[in-house]
Amino acid sequence: MPKNKISPVVSILIGIGVGILIGILAHQFQLETLISICGFLGQLFLRLLRMLVAPLILASLTVGVFSTGSVSRLGKLGVKTMAYFIATTAIAVALGILLVNLIRPGSGVSLLGQAVSEEIARTQGMRVVDLLIKIVPTNPFKALAETDVLGIIFIAIVLGFGLVALGEKASGLREFFLSFDHLMLYLTSALMKVAPIGVGALLAEIIGQMGFAPMLPLAKYMLTVFLGLVIQTFVILPVILWAFTGLNPYRFIVKVFPVMATAFSTSSSNATLPVSMGTMEKEIGVSEKVVSFVLPLGATINMNGTALYEAVAAIFIAQAYGIDLSFAQQAVIFLTAILAAIGTPGMPQAGLFTMVIILEAVGLPIKGIGLILAVDRVLDMMRTVVNVYGDLTGAVIIAKSEGEKIDLSGRKTPAILNRD
Ligand code: ASP
Repeated sequence: MPKNKISPVVSILIGIGVGILIGILAHQFQLETLISICGFLGQLFLRLLRMLVAPLILASLTVGVFSTGSVSRLGKLGVKTMAYFIATTAIAVALGILLVNLIRPGSGVSLLGQAVSEEIARTQGMRVVDLLIKIVPTNPFKALAETDVLGIIFIAIVLGFGLVALGEKASGLREFFLSFDHLMLYLTSALMKVAPIGVGALLAEIIGQMGFAPMLPLAKYMLTVFLGLVIQTFVILPVILWAFTGLNPYRFIVKVFPVMATAFSTSSSNATLPVSMGTMEKEIGVSEKVVSFVLPLGATINMNGTALYEAVAAIFIAQAYGIDLSFAQQAVIFLTAILAAIGTPGMPQAGLFTMVIILEAVGLPIKGIGLILAVDRVLDMMRTVVNVYGDLTGAVIIAKSEGEKIDLSGRKTPAILNRD
């Protein structure tokens, strides 16, 4: 590392520290202009991230698929990835259900919540099957234009296999996608350099606007979710990572910290994709094949944090309404929370909407969501970190299972470890 170069982890920590400090000062002294400036910078960063998501997934996954080249290899990768996603999501939900039953944060909570927006109420009757069928886009350009991640994944897989099947006839297009992919990775790296400013500005804006006051009445509920997320992040996923790869999980957390900070400040798994894909390839050394497949898929369907949160929230609502849930009803919550998390798009506060699936399944009042609205923004930031962290852990485990070499010690340059 050349002299004077601050590591990405340190610079993001500085960004977070400065952002929090500015946010607290701006809130305390009502510095509206300062909040607006931070809001402007933060939104600019967010828009740049979102701008890269669709072309980045398209380019890197198309290249990933045609360099894998075989349906059976990709199929094997898919099965392993899905098994990991479902298993870790199930563990997260079980953990949430256990904690909320032990802590009982909903007992004795006043029922004065905010009104539930029409949009949330309209989610009633939404079925998971409807979400699944949308994986196949009817119009590929619309899927790209709307950053419909599952749709783009589907298009990239189809294109990738088409390019393999056509062989020499499609060599020009293959070259095009390879160059396009280099360009997207280059732009992603460039954007990662300004992440500390973007993350800090987003945090300053949120804290400047909200302060910490709205969280107090729901402190016990927040603490339950927080405790669950902490156990999932610092105990369960690290144990799984260590068991499957032998790598030091805490060294891994430090290396991917900039990704987690981006997830926290943007509250969006999708918007974090450029940073997560860039970091996993450049800092950890996971191959493009694995990164481009596991991370976009994970951003849309693997949501450990959301699953845990939704299970806790649903049971919290039942407790607040004095409704006793039977074991069978809790089992239904377990299953529907997994499905709801799979169906949650990686966007800010999307989990609030899919929670309706769980409440409906066990007959809990939809307007109960109003009780937790005030603190959802903050819990969204926290659960998004765990959603993304689960994907990162999955990518390393899958990479290792594919025979890739991962070295977290910093002795080797990760980028050259698994180059095809
Ligand atoms: N914001 C979360 C994410 O993007 C989804 C949610 O609302 O739970 O991962």
